[in-house]
Amino acid sequence: MTATIEERTAHGRGQGVFALDPFRKGDVLYVGVLDDRPISNHSHASQISKTEFGFHKGLSSKFNHSCNPNCGIVINDTGGHNIVAMCDIAAADEATYDYAMRNYRIEHFAGPCVCGHANCRGSITGWQDLPQRRKDDYAGYVAPYLIEMDIEDAAIILHAEAASALECNGPAPTVGLPTAQ
Ligand SMILES: [Zn+2]
Repeated sequence: MTATIEERTAHGRGQGVFALDPFRKGDVLYVGVLDDRPISNHSHASQISKTEFGFHKGLSSKFNHSCNPNCGIVINDTGGHNIVAMCDIAAADEATYDYAMRNYRIEHFAGPCVCGHANCRGSITGWQDLPQRRKDDYAGYVAPYLIEMDIEDAAIILHAEAASALECNGPAPTVGLPTAQ
């Protein structure tokens, strides 16, 4: 198989992955193959389910993050994360995705984001911290467990609000109640 992507130096951002051929929206640039090594939340490990992290083989970890990415994540039949063009990509363009497309929380990238886009959110944050509008933009290009985690988080918040509402009601007031004669 002819290589269609390649690792190169990305100006000012270390290494990155570049298209060698043009890609059309929906084309798969990288087929996700999970490595067997179990791993905790390591900076090059990706979230692969609601509770698990893992490594992918090949160039997966070389893709840079962008707040305005041209690729997204689609999980394949093996559980690996394909990296798929969200728009047309010209040959020699860098291929990027938003790390929030597969990680609910991101704790490993403490420094500022250097993606350089006008809509850069300043730091590389996880799905949990994306505004809803951005989540909507990424529909179809994010790991589905993130959506499930959102639903679970919303349920927890609702539950907490219900509990605090109950506390606010407190014990029944006694002042002003008619007293038995
Ligand atoms: Zn950015």
